[in-house]
Amino acid sequence: MNRLDMPPITKVSVVIPVYNEEESLPELIARTTAACDRLTCDYEILLVDDGSSDRSATLMIEAAEAPGSRVVAVILNRNYGQHSAIMAGFGNVSGDLIVTLDADLQNPPEEIPHLVEVAANHDVVGTIRANRRDSLFRKTASRMINLLIKRTTGKAMSDYGCMLRAYRRPIVEAMLNCHERSTFIPILANTFARRATEVEVHHAEREHGESKYSFMKLINLMYDLVTCLTTTPLRLLSVVGSVIALGGFSLTVLLLALRLFFGPIWAAGGVFTLFAILFFFIGAQFVAMGLLGEYIGRIYNDVRARPRYFIHTIVGQDSRFAAQGNKE
Ligand code: UDP
Ligand code: MG
Repeated sequence: MNRLDMPPITKVSVVIPVYNEEESLPELIARTTAACDRLTCDYEILLVDDGSSDRSATLMIEAAEAPGSRVVAVILNRNYGQHSAIMAGFGNVSGDLIVTLDADLQNPPEEIPHLVEVAANHDVVGTIRANRRDSLFRKTASRMINLLIKRTTGKAMSDYGCMLRAYRRPIVEAMLNCHERSTFIPILANTFARRATEVEVHHAEREHGESKYSFMKLINLMYDLVTCLTTTPLRLLSVVGSVIALGGFSLTVLLLALRLFFGPIWAAGGVFTLFAILFFFIGAQFVAMGLLGEYIGRIYNDVRARPRYFIHTIVGQDSRFAAQGNKE
């Protein structure tokens, strides 16, 4: 075997973050189990409860306790967000290929065997939603983000938003060793990947409940994504700031010259222009400060170094793993 060849896959771990998905859970578990049964290797299904307030956790524990079940229920003490929940799952996997999936059945679990097949000689398998079923606003937002990602990382991954993905164990371990609290898993994974690829998957409409991402949460996710990716915006900030300051300076010179040549009457008419310029500056400053604040907020969180998640219970897995569950 060539040293660069990928080691064979002996066990697949499916990690699914769950936040108030009691309506989808029974079908999710049934369909995921059915899909994994078609695999030729061993598998486990880790359901991570991200502080649901409905019956999700109870359903998960029941599924894990059923005889012969391959389900492992990881219960977090509160809501930490999708990516932290996935990290909590990552910290407790025992397989050598890890597949992530959304609990709302927008990503069909039937694609898992195909992903595993492709992962035989790749360390990260991404996906592209063939017929994306989301609102126009969400689609436009992700198109803009994708463009930004492509510009900054230079990696041509066309769809970072789809969580149906497969990662090799070393990649997952590398991600667990990243100590920043706000992460965007697909991008993080790509920074460690040597051989990454993409496959097309179907995308279904959400059947039960509503998207668990409110507008504010989406904004937060977007900032997570940008700050996880790059610090260029910070540098851009000073560049834009200098350009604006330079523009302001030349304008002042111009206004002064006009005042000297055409007298004070002209200057009085220019009051509104000045206001406009002033507002422009104030606006720019606020944008800049906001961006700065986003970075500082994240630095603050990292300095505090609280654990990224805290596991309350794990059901359905031998205690060997439970002991090391609560890592950062
Ligand atoms: N999710 C989570 N914690 C959260 C928000 C979402 O674990 O705080 C899970 C949710 O249960 C689902 C997945 O993340 O399995 C994706 O969420 P959702 O479908 O609401 O996002 P969308 O598809 O609208 O991007
Ligand atoms: Mg969804």
